[in-house]
Amino acid sequence: MTVLRSGSASDVGLVRSSNQDLALEAGTLFAVADGMGGHAGGEVASRLAIDALKAAFGRHPTVAGLAGAVESANEAVWEHGVANSDLRGMGTTLTAVALVAESGRDVLALVNVGDSRSYRYHDGELVQITRDHSLAEEMVLRGELTPAEAAVHPHRHILTRALGVSPDVDVDVWEIVPTRGDRFLLCSDGLTNELGDGQIGEVLSHIGGPQEAADTLVQAARIHGGSDNITVVVVDVVVGEEHDGSIPLVSALATTGGAASSVLADGGPEGQHPPSGQSEGASGVPDGRMRPRAVPEASEPGRRERNRARRRARRWARGRRLVTFRTLLFVVVLAGIVVGTLSALRWYDTNSYFVGLDGNELVIYQGRVGGLLWYHPVEVERTGVTTGDVTQDYLKDLQSGVQTASLVAARTYVENLVAAHASITTPTATVPTATTSPTPTSPTTTSSAPAGGGT
Ligand code: MG
Repeated sequence: MTVLRSGSASDVGLVRSSNQDLALEAGTLFAVADGMGGHAGGEVASRLAIDALKAAFGRHPTVAGLAGAVESANEAVWEHGVANSDLRGMGTTLTAVALVAESGRDVLALVNVGDSRSYRYHDGELVQITRDHSLAEEMVLRGELTPAEAAVHPHRHILTRALGVSPDVDVDVWEIVPTRGDRFLLCSDGLTNELGDGQIGEVLSHIGGPQEAADTLVQAARIHGGSDNITVVVVDVVVGEEHDGSIPLVSALATTGGAASSVLADGGPEGQHPPSGQSEGASGVPDGRMRPRAVPEASEPGRRERNRARRRARRWARGRRLVTFRTLLFVVVLAGIVVGTLSALRWYDTNSYFVGLDGNELVIYQGRVGGLLWYHPVEVERTGVTTGDVTQDYLKDLQSGVQTASLVAARTYVENLVAAHASITTPTATVPTATTSPTPTSPTTTSSAPAGGGT
């Protein structure tokens, strides 16, 4: 029978105004989440993820169940972010370890997404199990940075994987044979930003109880700067230890009712546990008792349920994206601009007139000479005046069209043309529609022949 003992501590640190980290100690399940995404988003994301992880793992307390629980946590954060625009973009890291029964033996299932970390300390050796999903770590893997350079790189906090930022997430999963004397450390980057492996190992080697170790680590990180929220969970494997009532003990198989695990009392021989996964994340694996594995296949009903939920989330997200308030506002404003522009053009066109020729008759048109976009000139008045009634000097202008500011101005222009011509041909004649000046004035310049009007 495998027995675990745990302790945890979390602190806002010395710089941040709120603590967006969250620790979980729940039966055989332990986790650390480090939320991000604005003032409230980070707290909401880490809480949603931890709650969803706990609930889903409770339904399927297996290695595959833990991996599936991380996917459920991702869906919970993603859907909540999609449904609440003020929380959009929130996300969280999540690393968790759980004691489960697999094939009749106790194993520790360990999962990770993001840059919170899980370590194993044993016999004076501290080994980082998880691999950061960060830009700096990617550069280390590509050989562009050394681990020491990555530790201080300005991009070390930029994540390449997190919960809640997309409908799907890839989960790194390990299966670990628990060995008496193992001490597992789960922590947010607020700890590892401030303390190096040597300092962490020092605390884990000298502080006996897991709660005291967690408290000491958090206080040490504060003393070294506390630039971020600091959260730590320490889990000791205490095989066969008697429960004296003063220390909270967690018995894996007592709560799951699974098979006994005497073979795991000493961890078993190296390599005895069947490997079941890929090589991803193999860096940091200290021996055959810790094996990274691909995301385990869930049971068929569980997989179907998750796939359905994922499809629902995608459809819902697509629908939500199409009818967001901002999209609606943009469409309304754009439509307003288009309608306003068209109305202004229409007003400008219908309040313009020009004099042109239809055959040899002077005709007044409404609109702009040559038309305006799809607004074509409309004939509004035939004057009865012909080209023989006006001076030949003006025929060229009339053929092109003479723009006026109004219908009255157009009529006046025609009258002036007639008067000017009459004053030349019959100096003694009296012009019925006399104007103050016999010389016609062109209200505006011409541009082109009237569309729809003959020339
Ligand atoms: Mg952090």
